Amino acid sequence: MNLGPLLNLLFPPHCLACRAPLPNASQGLCALCKDAILCETNLRCGRCFARLPGDAKICHTNFPYILGAATHYHDARVRALVQGLKFRHAHAAAATLAELTERYLRSVPLSLASFAILPIPLSHKRERKRGYNQSQLIAARVGNALGIPVITDALVRTIHAQPQSELSDWRARHMNVAGAFAVPVPHQVARKDILLFDDVTTSGATFFEASVALKCAGARRIIAVAAAKA
Ligand SMILES: [Zn+2]
Ligand SMILES: [Zn+2]
Repeated sequence: MNLGPLLNLLFPPHCLACRAPLPNASQGLCALCKDAILCETNLRCGRCFARLPGDAKICHTNFPYILGAATHYHDARVRALVQGLKFRHAHAAAATLAELTERYLRSVPLSLASFAILPIPLSHKRERKRGYNQSQLIAARVGNALGIPVITDALVRTIHAQPQSELSDWRARHMNVAGAFAVPVPHQVARKDILLFDDVTTSGATFFEASVALKCAGARRIIAVAAAKA
């Protein structure tokens, strides 16, 4: 039984930021709020966040990834979307975050043709509890829009860590996810260029650990793409 129409009647869809009514529940924000969000147009060094002029590292050249952050978490509209991902509005919020990420990826100086998208996995326990992986929801939409393959089984979580959002300092976040990822079948990523997807990045600890596992398995280039940078 599809409860969608009934839920829309009981809880009419509204913009998660300004509460304006929406014609349907397929988007998280109204057009005005969505268009007002500023998207980045550069890639950044993953270590020091310096803006890069192109798609190559110029400072911390040994760092395992380049950061691609589409928007900023300090924008209240972006925050509303990221929070919406956690509850009933997950699909609408993911659709809008995917659109912003797609807008960003089309604007950066990067040839996307050689890349595959890998969403950051949740532990089995967390995914079962939540019912979905928010990074995968975003990745699937962006992959579809840009014609980039999405691989969901190459990277796995080996540790059920505490949510990073519950930890405040950089060191605790790094310790929490140390060694948390594995690549069971290395040839799935060997010599591949990878767009590693997550909804939000804060300290970069999750991206770092996942990138180290992918590099050990032979991945070539890694661009860590977050819909929002906190
Ligand atoms: Zn709005
Ligand atoms: Zn740097």
